[in-house]
Amino acid sequence: MHKMIVYFLLVIACVSNSIAHNGGNIEKRVVSWKSTELAKGIYMLEGKAGNPGANLGLLVGKDGVILIDNGLPKVIEMTMKTIGKIAGGDVSFVINTHGHLDHTGGNPAYAKKNVTIVAHDNTRKELQSNKEFNQIGLPNITFNDEITFYLNGQTVNAFYIQPAHTNNDVVIYFKDANIIHAGDMFFNKKFPFIDLDRGGDIDGFIAGQKKIIELINKDTKIIPGHGLLANKKDLQTAVNMLIDAKKRVKDLVDKGMSKEEVLTINPLATYEKWSWNHISTKKMTEILYRALTTKKEQTKN
Ligand SMILES: [Zn+2]
Repeated sequence: MHKMIVYFLLVIACVSNSIAHNGGNIEKRVVSWKSTELAKGIYMLEGKAGNPGANLGLLVGKDGVILIDNGLPKVIEMTMKTIGKIAGGDVSFVINTHGHLDHTGGNPAYAKKNVTIVAHDNTRKELQSNKEFNQIGLPNITFNDEITFYLNGQTVNAFYIQPAHTNNDVVIYFKDANIIHAGDMFFNKKFPFIDLDRGGDIDGFIAGQKKIIELINKDTKIIPGHGLLANKKDLQTAVNMLIDAKKRVKDLVDKGMSKEEVLTINPLATYEKWSWNHISTKKMTEILYRALTTKKEQTKN
């Protein structure tokens, strides 16, 4: 009975979260994933309807299954069913790109199925301190610099980026297939979120994106944490935008302007098309202002 109620509530939650209001008509959509095979046995999954979470990566083959990130907790049953269908069997390893809940929300459900969860040392610490997170889903293998999986004829290297989007970002590189899962080190054609409350760092973010660019070539397929499948050129465009956006805000900070004065000038107006529901132009400006003024204080001390 209890299970039935939970299931019922879950269905309500899934449907109500994806109700689109359109000219007075209410269109009901069920939250789901769209899967694209990028190379033999390597898939990108992105939200098809509603918001099931950040983009996932999946490696499938006879040696085992690696799932990169696992979406939001509220739709985990649907996510597990989708992954199970594509994989044709159980997941062997989950890799978390970092601790945000739209990437790690499925950890507890996978942990209950005895799936090994791999993440950076700081991701475990981050999730340990998150009261919303069911602690059963903590990563049970952690690493500091990098870890490599040899599965299904693929070399899969997960490596740590310095403090950037958070203080615990890792990027996963399928070397043989020339595919990268960038986690939230890349928001394709969207303003990036730099989580200053969780150790994020604007210069680290720029340096981290440059590091990925150095590693790849024009044929590399990049799965961004958010946004459509991308390539090196898209990532270069994103880092160029961020460098320029930072400069635009910094010029005003250097003139001694307050946050309100900077927001009134709206120095990122030229990048309005990068605005999205999580990071508006105003929010991006606020993040940059805070990052730049916090640094100033640190330098003074
Ligand atoms: Zn994130």
